[in-house]
Amino acid sequence: MVQYPSRLELAQLPTPIQLLDRFSKANSFASRLWIKRDDLTGCATSGNKIRKLEFILVEAKQQQADVIITCGGVQSNHARATALLGAQLGFKVHLLLRGEPAELNGRGNHFLDLLSGAEISCYPSSVYVPKFHELVAELRARYHRAGLKTYFITTGASDGTGAWGYIKAAEEIKQQSEQSGVRFDHIVCATGSGGTLAGLTAGVRLHDLDTVVWGINVCDTADYFIQKAHADLQEWKCAFKQDLDTASLPVRVIDGYVGPGYGRAEKPVYELISKLAAMEGIILDPIYTGKAFYGMLQELQAGRFGAAKNILFVHTGGLFGLMGDSEINNYISRDH
Ligand SMILES: *Cc1c(COP(=O)(O)O)cnc(C)c1O
Repeated sequence: MVQYPSRLELAQLPTPIQLLDRFSKANSFASRLWIKRDDLTGCATSGNKIRKLEFILVEAKQQQADVIITCGGVQSNHARATALLGAQLGFKVHLLLRGEPAELNGRGNHFLDLLSGAEISCYPSSVYVPKFHELVAELRARYHRAGLKTYFITTGASDGTGAWGYIKAAEEIKQQSEQSGVRFDHIVCATGSGGTLAGLTAGVRLHDLDTVVWGINVCDTADYFIQKAHADLQEWKCAFKQDLDTASLPVRVIDGYVGPGYGRAEKPVYELISKLAAMEGIILDPIYTGKAFYGMLQELQAGRFGAAKNILFVHTGGLFGLMGDSEINNYISRDH
């Protein structure tokens, strides 16, 4: 039995697992593709970050923080979820965003950030990247001088505490698998800050789930995320006094689908988003899930998953990222 620390019940759980029957058959895949609908964990707060934030925001409450500070790109799903959950829980939220002024277009996630009343400081990459730690320290100091207590959440809520979110999701998948009698040979997710992958990797071990977990990175490299996931799990192990040998856990990352860079996708990814929407009513996004789903299909065709009967893709959300991207308008299907 895994002993969980306390959490806030913020997400709508369990999220359903659905078979992509038409899509699997139309492509005559040897494996059946399933989707774990973590895009349904909430409405505006939906996606994977809320699972991690359930465990992180309880710490912020326990520490009696006044202000939550977090960070990410202009279209960060994590920043948006934090801004809205902060409003829900009565915290002031200050977002440190990375983006060029022209990207602050008030669309998608940025729109919801503004609507949530969060205070936003935005810096171009040329400042944000080299000065990140200084910017955070300055911001915290400014609130401390005003007598306010801050709680900082790292990029993507991927840290030792956030890892619990997908450790718990692994247990949910196990229960659903037992109920339905469907055994998932592989579980695949998009990887952007590593916490979903770290949590699932530890979670399947802790819950004795016989499946192989893969992350498909949408930025950086496989090596970077293997190290990052291990670092998060090491932090989890120390902070929560766990005796799992995290260093020996197999963190598996499939590289090769970053495309032109973080946040930028190419034609095949947009075409796939359009196709899946029309065929299954499932909306992927160009930054995370579209790239990862595309990568999963390429790998399936190349034989990476062998004779797998069932593959589960974790839909980590991202709808508002798609709303903040006008490129998709060029890929609306007109071949009726
Ligand atoms: C953040 C995010 C991911 C990546 O998850 P990590 O735990 O940060 O690796 C995937 N999909 C969506 C939609 C996200 O917002």
